[in-house]
Amino acid sequence: MNKTGQDKKPQGEYRLKRRRGATLFPSSGSDYPPMKSLWNDRVAADMTARLLESCGEPLAWRTYASRLLGASPALVLHGGGNSSVKTAWPTLTGESVPVVCVKASGWDLGAIEPEGHVPLELSRLLPLIRLEALDDGAMVNQLRLALFDHQAPTPSLEALLHAFLPPIFIDHCHSEAILALTNRPDGEETARRALGPGVIVLPYVRPGFPLAKAAAAAFAAHPDAEGMVLARHGLVTWGKTARESYESTIALVSRAEAFLGRELEASPPSPVPQVGAVPALDEAERRYRETAPLVRGVLCGEAPEVGISHRFVLRPLLDEPVLRQLAMPGARELALSPPLTADHLVRLKPWPLWVEDPAQLAEGVADYARRYQEYTARHAHRLPTGARLADPLPRVIMIPGVGMMCAGRTAQEADAVRDLAEQNLLVKGAMAAASVPYQGLDEGHLFDMEYGVTQLAKLHAPSQPLAGSTALVTGAAGAIGWGLCETLLQNGCHVAASDLPGERLNDLAVALSARHPGRLLPVAMDVTDPASVRQGFGVATDAWGGLDIVVPNAGLAHVAGLEELELEAFRRLHRVNVEGTLLVLTEASRMFRRQGCGGDVVLISTKNVFAPGAQFGAYSATKAAAHQLARIASLELAPLGVRVNMVAPDAVFSGGAARSGLWAEVGPGRMKARGLDEKGLEEYYRQRNLLKARVTAEHVGRAVLFFVTRQTPTTGATLPVDGGLPDATPR
Ligand code: ZN
Repeated sequence: MNKTGQDKKPQGEYRLKRRRGATLFPSSGSDYPPMKSLWNDRVAADMTARLLESCGEPLAWRTYASRLLGASPALVLHGGGNSSVKTAWPTLTGESVPVVCVKASGWDLGAIEPEGHVPLELSRLLPLIRLEALDDGAMVNQLRLALFDHQAPTPSLEALLHAFLPPIFIDHCHSEAILALTNRPDGEETARRALGPGVIVLPYVRPGFPLAKAAAAAFAAHPDAEGMVLARHGLVTWGKTARESYESTIALVSRAEAFLGRELEASPPSPVPQVGAVPALDEAERRYRETAPLVRGVLCGEAPEVGISHRFVLRPLLDEPVLRQLAMPGARELALSPPLTADHLVRLKPWPLWVEDPAQLAEGVADYARRYQEYTARHAHRLPTGARLADPLPRVIMIPGVGMMCAGRTAQEADAVRDLAEQNLLVKGAMAAASVPYQGLDEGHLFDMEYGVTQLAKLHAPSQPLAGSTALVTGAAGAIGWGLCETLLQNGCHVAASDLPGERLNDLAVALSARHPGRLLPVAMDVTDPASVRQGFGVATDAWGGLDIVVPNAGLAHVAGLEELELEAFRRLHRVNVEGTLLVLTEASRMFRRQGCGGDVVLISTKNVFAPGAQFGAYSATKAAAHQLARIASLELAPLGVRVNMVAPDAVFSGGAARSGLWAEVGPGRMKARGLDEKGLEEYYRQRNLLKARVTAEHVGRAVLFFVTRQTPTTGATLPVDGGLPDATPR
């Protein structure tokens, strides 16, 4: 912890932990662990015994072995890969029919449950092999007709391959080592040399019906083969048992790795990065923090009125191996080559954006968009019915000396982009180190996979109004803070919840992270300390690339008449309520100016600004000063497209698990003065307003939501949330 009580990297994710050393494939002197079978008889027996009753033996074994396949990122990443088992399935009328249970879309092999493999009636699928052609849409239709449950998720795009190949258990993965063999000019020949004559090597065939048919024909010609390499795509293995099929994958991948290791050892010494081109990690991290908001800004579009629907969250890919690789001779050409496997396209797009200098970002994004639109225009005649062209913006941005930024509409989506981008960088880099030229898919195949019906189904466009948006809330662990964070999270926003470090902040983080995984970032921050505020904004920038919404909410209350009000008590409130607001507004202004894509500030004010209360001088005066600062901000920030508005609540007693700090301070005196208990006091305040409403933290959250979803062209305005108090109506 530094002096502001803020860990430099409290989220533990910014400095990415690499899953391996700088050399990708095992060779002499490399610390890369060779691929090993994870099969464990005891665990397998325990798990299958547990699952047996609910799903039957074949699916129990299928589930266990699929999880092993999914446990290795070198084989399977983010929903990639799939597996199947052929068995018998009971019908309603008491018969038993042959089925193939195939992994369904949306399931991750590493965490799959028995219901993640959906049964398909083979007698409906096998005759399809006689067709000449079947497009993706018609194929999905046939797959759905063969399901036993109309609500089941759609089976994988490769379901027909699993159906047409005869073996009982089938495993399919996108192994890095196999791709490193095939993604080169003589890829098929290399795969044959590396794996031996017992392995079928298919040239690239479009996944879906064409690949299923080609694979079935190749298998029929070599029924004794050990497995099948799909060039520029992946590996298929099979067996009579789940273990046999899984261990066949491990054996073939190990063979590929050994070949690549020998190739690396025999190659001339690899080139080294240019002198001075690789900055120290701390320097790169500083540059990243400066640059990420610029990238968010250009991805958002130049016009501030572009609205809130085009925002992206950025996740960093930044460490020494990445910085080195970006500085290698030829790094740019390698980075711009197509992704390793067609499966990556829907997340990575066909190529990343590469800029040499952050100053070229706007121009770079405009060029990228032009090039992407030309690419889609060349192939748009093959767009599946009903599919729409995607936005023409990059998902991976590479800047030598700064690192990589990975964009998604949610942090989770951006993380998937980051992991796939890292895998591409590593495999291509390892091939370059062995002096092997890289060759990916051609452009037409790229388009078909990027826009395949089933590929598009992998990305469900988030419909929440604040998807891609990021917010920082101060005083988050207080009653109103909980309500604000919860409301923003429920609407798709990513929320940096800042407060003083301690149990209250931890409780908030635990509760809200569980409900909104990946979108709540606890930030220990003291609003009275300029360094702490700057650091808090920096932590949010590291995590998401920048901020769109800032809600200054931290505040203190104090009860004392002017006669006895101690100067130090007044100053304490002044530091939090006035200086704290000022520091947050200052930092927010800098962030919004740098980002250049508008923004929103919503200050949590109070009815006391308009209708101050006796004994409440320090609170009313300091909140009035904060309110006035926000009005000034609305004047100064309007040219940047930033709106600044105020919400003035009254009598909010609690929110989430937190009691109001203000009422803890004020309540006892008020209760005593009026002879009421806590419930009585709440009732007193309810009866005081015109609507007889109990005001909640959630109501305050909704008022903030009204402003930040930009329902009206409004800035500098105050929205009371008080049930109607004529004296406190803003004027
Ligand atoms: Zn595949």
